Formats: sequence, C-alpha cells, structure tokens
Amino acid sequence: MIVGKLIIISAPSGSGKTTLCNFLLKKINNLNFSISATSRSSRPNEIDGKDYYFLSLMEFKKKIEKNEFIEYEEVYENVFYGTLNSELKRLWDLNKIILFDLDVKGGINLKKMFPEKTLSIFIKPPSIKILEKRLELRESESKKTIKSRINKAKKEILFSEKFDVIITNDNLENAKKNLLRSVLNFI
Ligand code: ADP
Ligand code: 5GP
Repeated sequence: MIVGKLIIISAPSGSGKTTLCNFLLKKINNLNFSISATSRSSRPNEIDGKDYYFLSLMEFKKKIEKNEFIEYEEVYENVFYGTLNSELKRLWDLNKIILFDLDVKGGINLKKMFPEKTLSIFIKPPSIKILEKRLELRESESKKTIKSRINKAKKEILFSEKFDVIITNDNLENAKKNLLRSVLNFI
C-alpha cells in the first residue's frame, strides 16, 4: 500500500467539523473523506456507507478482535468510532488525499503513525457557551447527550496544542479561509 497524504480534523462535537470538512471536500478535488465505522445509530439525514459505516456494537467489537482498525476509540460510553484499514487502502489505491474527522485522541494517535505525511488541525469553538448553543440549535442530540459532549469538550480543548494548526471557528467565513490556506500550503 502506498501511503498518501492525510489531513486530520479534530474538534469537540459541535465545533463545526462537519461544516468545515464539507467545505474542504467541495474546494479540493483530490481530497476524499475517510468514512469511519461507528456503533452509534444513524441520524435521520445520514446515509450508511457515505457518512459512516454503521455497525452494531457486536460487529464493531468483532472487527477490533480481527485487527481491522488502524485506530479506534470508545468516544462515548459504549459508542465506538474507528478507521478501518480497508478504508485507507481503498482511498490511497485511488491516489486520494484523505480527510479524517476524528476525535482528539484518535487525531493525535493517527498523526503519530504518519508524522511527515499528516497535517493535523484542531477546530476550536469560540467558547464553551457558544458550543452548547450550537449543539442545541442543531437539534440532533438529547439534553443528556449535549451535557456529556460539553463535558468532553472541556477536556478536549486542553489537547489543542498537540495539533499542527489551530483554527478558531468564530466567524464561519474566516474559519473557512484560514483552513483552506493551511491545507493548500500542506498539499
Ligand atoms: P461538528 O461536526 O463539529 O459536530 P457541525 O458542523 O455539525 O459540528 O456544526 C454544529 C452546528 O453549528 C451546526 O448546526 C452548524 O451549522 C453550526 N455552525 C458551524 N459553524 C458555525 C459558525 N461559525 N457560526 C455559527 N454556527 C456554526
Ligand atoms: P458524531 O457522533 O458527532 O458523528 O461524532 C462523534 C465524535 O467521533 C467526533 O468527535 C468525531 O470526530 C469522532 N469520530 C468519528 N469517526 C471517528 C473515527 O474513525 N475515529 C475516532 N477516533 N473518532 C472518530
């Protein structure tokens, strides 16, 4: 397998990762999204095999046993997310630059595996209060889930310095501009 370039985007849930990843994918032709596997259930607008490979908890654990993941994390209690080796092979065989949307631990770990080939980017919310508001407005999570995501976000922000680039997503247009500039410089 020939190793190509990797762009990793990590951020607390609700910081704007999906919005910013979709923007990058539209702007850069040769960039393709790494579709992760997850044991969480799909949201109404999500498509299996496009947004995620949705697996049952049992199926996910079987793949862990068979060493099918290059990295995986139990991001929330009993909710697993991971990058399949087969997904990397699929995209690198097509000569694609791969864009990853990973939790902070996963992002730091994958960067360590391919240090020279990877640009790791942390998307920072302007504040925890604004992050909470954005999650409420998105209406995709229950109050309880939002609370657990906010608690996790506070810890994740402490790791932002471990990334190559930090982009604050305050004004969306500015964040897009800064992100695109960093990625184009790297590739
Ligand atoms: P993530 O993928 O990190 O969970 P999303 O991209 O889904 O985050 O963004 C969370 C919510 O915040 C979405 O409803 C999105 O439209 C909104 N959002 C993203 N960036 C901004 C911004 N700069 N200003 C205001 N709202 C934003
Ligand atoms: P969501 O449920 O909001 O789609 O994602 C929750 C969290 O899981 C996000 O922080 C996202 O970046 C992370 N995530 C998604 N896919 C992967 C993956 O393959 N590996 C890791 N480590 N985290 C992932």
